[in-house]
Amino acid sequence: MTQAPLGDVLNAVVAMEGGAEASSGFLTLTHHLLCELGEHDADIEHAAHLWSASAEPPNAPALWFFWTGAGSECAHRVATVPWCPAILRHLDTGVVRMCAFFDHHLAPHSWSVTDPLGDLLAERLVSGDGPDNV
Ligand SMILES: [Zn+2]
Ligand SMILES: [Zn+2]
Repeated sequence: MTQAPLGDVLNAVVAMEGGAEASSGFLTLTHHLLCELGEHDADIEHAAHLWSASAEPPNAPALWFFWTGAGSECAHRVATVPWCPAILRHLDTGVVRMCAFFDHHLAPHSWSVTDPLGDLLAERLVSGDGPDNV
């Protein structure tokens, strides 16, 4: 989690096509950004999706916030990048999922990212062997 430098973010949004109207929405943007890449090596930049001009992800680049480090060591940049072209197709159901990350990301694709806390809670729910069952 990191603090978003709102000025940098607003400037980048306004610079994008259709961004001038959208920028007003960023006044209520939460200033805390969570990395969306899941678990990854420390030398890979954290990334949080900020905004995209189109409702159809493949058609427009999206604005991302990248950062490394924490606190006074934190370095950040705001960049417009295309979407990751990767697609996951389930042959049995025909369901197609597009990767929700930016192009050339280094961590696994979005469908591989799991929420560690969510997994932990799910495990607790299915295991069911608490002290009462002993
Ligand atoms: Zn991260
Ligand atoms: Zn991807």
